Amino acid sequence: MSVSSRPARGTLYIVSAPSGAGKTSLVGALLDSVEDVEVSVSHTTRQPRPGEVDGIDYHFVSAETFLGMIEDGKLLEHAKVFDNFYGTALASVNERLDAGFDVILEIDWQGARQVRAAVPDCRSVFILPPSRTELERRLRGRGQDSEEVIERRLRDAESDCTHYREYDYTVVNAEFDQALRDLASIFRSNRLRTVEQEIRSADTLNNLLAGARASA
Ligand code: 5GP
Repeated sequence: MSVSSRPARGTLYIVSAPSGAGKTSLVGALLDSVEDVEVSVSHTTRQPRPGEVDGIDYHFVSAETFLGMIEDGKLLEHAKVFDNFYGTALASVNERLDAGFDVILEIDWQGARQVRAAVPDCRSVFILPPSRTELERRLRGRGQDSEEVIERRLRDAESDCTHYREYDYTVVNAEFDQALRDLASIFRSNRLRTVEQEIRSADTLNNLLAGARASA
């Protein structure tokens, strides 16, 4: 029996983090350093922020459209975060996984729980800031928010951090380049698993094992 040369189906990844952990920058840099990885564009009912583009940052939809998607079973997961709905469309994720891409869902811990239940072989990563002091420094970064807003963000971030144990991997973003290497190594090592290599390196395996098979 020869090794099948069908294209490998991609792996579904969840990446979660409290705000201020640097998740968006890390995932952006990951896309430049590991091939065949994509980020799923979520649907949300929140208003676009300045500079955000519909279809790129999010699919910005009305609450009515969003609730219709839930009813029609079109969402892999959904959650209410900071008074707005967020969700992941099932069809587009499956299409990209089937095309062989690893797909990242940048979602919160509530959505992560739903995805783990629906897709048990997904992999999940939690990104942590290096300390409370640094988290506070990053959340204050823009210097435009009131003390009350900053305090609320800090409390939310601390509460998000309590969920790190639900994830397969934990990356501490103390130094950006090191955190990026850590994140990339998760994706690379997953592709080196034997079940994956049997598909990705089928030609090599068939070539190496041809003689042994012939004499068996
Ligand atoms: P923001 O509004 O700042 O872009 O995102 C707020 C929070 O919503 C972040 O924690 C982000 O990870 C989460 N989020 C974004 N998209 C989704 C999604 O599709 N599903 C879930 N469950 N959370 C999401």
